[in-house]
Amino acid sequence: MEKLSNPQITIETIKKYGFDFQKKYGQNFLIDGRVLEKIMDAAEITKEDSVLEIGPGIGTMTQYLAERAGRVAAVEIDPKLIPILTDTLSEYPNVTIIQGDILKLDLKALVSEISPDRPVKVVANLPYYITTPIIMGLFEQHIPLDNITVMVQKEVADRMQVGPGTKDYGALSLAVQYYAKPYIVANVPPNCFIPRPNVASAVIRLTRYPAPPVTVKNEKLMFQLIRASFNQRRKTLVNGIGNAPEVPFTKEETTQALIRLGLPSTVRGEALTLEEFARLSDELEQG
Ligand code: SAM
Repeated sequence: MEKLSNPQITIETIKKYGFDFQKKYGQNFLIDGRVLEKIMDAAEITKEDSVLEIGPGIGTMTQYLAERAGRVAAVEIDPKLIPILTDTLSEYPNVTIIQGDILKLDLKALVSEISPDRPVKVVANLPYYITTPIIMGLFEQHIPLDNITVMVQKEVADRMQVGPGTKDYGALSLAVQYYAKPYIVANVPPNCFIPRPNVASAVIRLTRYPAPPVTVKNEKLMFQLIRASFNQRRKTLVNGIGNAPEVPFTKEETTQALIRLGLPSTVRGEALTLEEFARLSDELEQG
């Protein structure tokens, strides 16, 4: 069977099943074989690998994954896509299709079933409305994974990989960079999808660190501080933290901690590196 990356085959398949695109599920299907090859190469998929695919759609990327990987588990929320996937992936015995919401599944159990001895690779053309919860969920649940190689909105890819002092730098950059090394693989224009999204897209590879690049005594507190500092972007870090009800430190305590670290008391969150947030967290905790 010719692949779904051929736009004509995608159109025929959609017609054959009378499939209606669901905007609420972020359905934009890839129709560009070169982009798919690039994603496969960037994720470095081999026959040794088990891959978790999020949102297979009609199976376009799944066909590529099935040819390269040992095993693929693909989680799709839309029940209307399941009979289509069963058809388009019928030639690939190494694919398991799971109907469900990726944000609600027991991912640890799924991953240990498909890949008991090796970290998995996560590959997806993500539904953009839930990019951040999906990626943060994978990291925070400590799913054993090697890399996440995903298509996201270009603006979100930029936010994940920038450092301090740029306008895109924020809580997402710090959270991603605590767990992984980001690398933008390719920019992808809207005409590589059916239907065309309203935004530009990019493929980003996040390579999981064996251990975080900074050490911090209380990870949870550091992330609370990070979120509080970026909640009110134009405010100083002292005010951001002071105004956050979930953070138990006064403005005075934060000011004193900054001074002890040699940082100006008027500094803004966007000027601090991950290392500096870790030091601030340790400093505040020890009082
Ligand atoms: N992988 C296909 C491709 O590249 O052509 C489709 C990608 S499309 C951008 C996103 C897919 O994720 C859709 O098939 C959508 O139904 C599915 N999806 C949306 N929300 C989901 C969720 N919470 N859990 C699992 N799949 C989801």
